[in-house]
Amino acid sequence: MDAAERSTSAQGPAPGEAEHHSLALVNTEFELPTGPYEGLPDGAAAGRWLRERGLGPVGQVAQAELRRLRLLRESMRTIFSAHIAGEHPEKQALECFNVALAAAPGVRELTWSATGPRVAVGERPGTRLEAVLTQLAEDGAELLTGASAAKLSACGAQGCTRLFIRSHAARRWCSDRCGNRVRAARHYAERERGAK
Ligand SMILES: [Zn+2]
Repeated sequence: MDAAERSTSAQGPAPGEAEHHSLALVNTEFELPTGPYEGLPDGAAAGRWLRERGLGPVGQVAQAELRRLRLLRESMRTIFSAHIAGEHPEKQALECFNVALAAAPGVRELTWSATGPRVAVGERPGTRLEAVLTQLAEDGAELLTGASAAKLSACGAQGCTRLFIRSHAARRWCSDRCGNRVRAARHYAERERGAK
């Protein structure tokens, strides 16, 4: 296990990542006081991540595809962060996001099952990775315009850049680890003040 893998398993997924592929993608790269973390360092890792998310089967991701995936991640972080700050995202980020959204849109089809009507997404044009990029962007668009949009937050722990969806109003950290780090720092600062 290398340093990167240790970092992510110690931190664990942030709330909302299980429900949203887009949030999980944004959180494959973040900063911690201990240093930066890159969860998609190469094509093999990217292929593994996509398979783990059930977005495969994608074999090894080619270099050019990895660039597109990382570009979407970057634009998504810009857009999510702007939303959290109550600002408009940069035009370039929106353009990049929309390119992914339009890469392989599936035709929607109304079908009937035993439980009633449902909308299914049919075959997507484009390459397998383009289909994945569009699915990630669609999920991001749904997150930003859905019920969870107002709960999208940045971790309040100093030095941590992970994003998460607040499970309850008072939640401010992306993980117990960050919460403990903040409490420990506060405790230390109070003790320092008390000693003077
Ligand atoms: Zn955090």
